[in-house]
Amino acid sequence: MSNSPVPQKLSLAARDLDVVWHPCTQMHDHETIPMLAIERAEGAWLHATDGRSYLDAISSWWTNVFGHRHPRIVAGLKDQLDRLDHIMLAGMTHEPAVALAEQLVRLAPAGLSRVFYADNGSSAVEVALKMSFHYWRNQGRPSRNRFIALSGGYHGETIGALSVTDVALYRATYAPLLFTPILAPSPDAYLGEIGESAQEHAARRLIDMRALLERHAHEVAAVIVEPLVQCAGGMRMYHADYLVGLRALCDEFEVHLIADEIAVGFGRTGSLFACEQAAISPDFMCLSKGLTGGTLPLSAVLTNEAVHAAFYAEYSAGKAFLHSHSYTGNALACRAALETLAIFNDEPVLENNRRLAAHLGQRLLELADHPHVADIRQTGMIAAIELVRERKTRSPFPANERRGLRVYLHGLERGVILRPLGNVVYFMPPYCVTTAEIDLMVEVAIEGIERAVA
Ligand SMILES: *Cc1c(COP(=O)(O)O)cnc(C)c1O
Repeated sequence: MSNSPVPQKLSLAARDLDVVWHPCTQMHDHETIPMLAIERAEGAWLHATDGRSYLDAISSWWTNVFGHRHPRIVAGLKDQLDRLDHIMLAGMTHEPAVALAEQLVRLAPAGLSRVFYADNGSSAVEVALKMSFHYWRNQGRPSRNRFIALSGGYHGETIGALSVTDVALYRATYAPLLFTPILAPSPDAYLGEIGESAQEHAARRLIDMRALLERHAHEVAAVIVEPLVQCAGGMRMYHADYLVGLRALCDEFEVHLIADEIAVGFGRTGSLFACEQAAISPDFMCLSKGLTGGTLPLSAVLTNEAVHAAFYAEYSAGKAFLHSHSYTGNALACRAALETLAIFNDEPVLENNRRLAAHLGQRLLELADHPHVADIRQTGMIAAIELVRERKTRSPFPANERRGLRVYLHGLERGVILRPLGNVVYFMPPYCVTTAEIDLMVEVAIEGIERAVA
């Protein structure tokens, strides 16, 4: 009896692989790729059950803005838990939902004065698409039932949001289920001609947009874009002039502009909202990810009085907006969002970020002449490195060689979470990151890139 083996308690990772199906994952990969079992997180660091720690260089899928478990957000949530957890938001309201809407309206681009809550980014996009279409329907123009989206854009993965997404990895398989948007070529500066500036490329792409609107405006409800950075499509960046011109075109052709700030909002691009850099007000602005500081799922769609007014009528007119998620405006999530905004208000966040972003940019210069780096780009606290087979021709590495995965695996060895998008290695750290931590993540990325291109 004493010789019988003590039953080995299964590790958390092993138990996970028995029951949990992970997002955006070929589960078979985990026969060789370790499943990280995280038991604690603090600031920019994730601590695993095996005692190892990892620098969260991509802010837990871009949600985390001030680092994990920011004391102010933790304290706010504890206080909120002692008052009110969750109630439905139909027929009743609560302080965090109202206060958050007030604050968002105060901070958002001028004219955005109404807030509709949902509980994740994709849902916010669904709300904006439906609301725009429904606006035109209420105005007696139901034929405006199509959307213009940008090539390389990403707006989420539910059926509607995926329909206006143009990233093949997510879209191609499900294409038979989706509606077809009108695709406008992206102003992505990387796609410009040799010698063409980002600004010139933006101007040229506005000509394409004008042509599309001339042909299609009568059937278009809205144009949807990710302002300044097309994130999931590979951190593709474009000049703010494009947004200025797009706003003007949408006005001229009487089409809504939906700004999907789900990834770029809350300081990522250097301003609280990316639209500020073009001094434009969209007709709809979608927020999520950083909205709660990365603690709880929540999203919001902001819109203007004209849109709100088009739905406001006697019940019998049948004009009400019809959309509801059970967890709409969850009180805990709203409270976390209020604490997030309070931190922006009380601390010099954007100012500090400018210093951190400059340091990050400086460090990346090391790669400027690398034979397998075609582009290094940065907008605020987002920086990306485009790996290619050959720098001169910019010929890409075939996707199935999974070069980016090698960078990821090297990062794990060195304790840094990098999760390249195909062959684009990027950094999107939480704002509590130190310059020493930036040095670490860049050093590890460079080592990983050397391994990946070998
Ligand atoms: C992440 C993201 C979404 C989808 O948000 P989820 O909460 O993941 O559904 C939509 N748009 C953009 C620009 C995003 O980056």
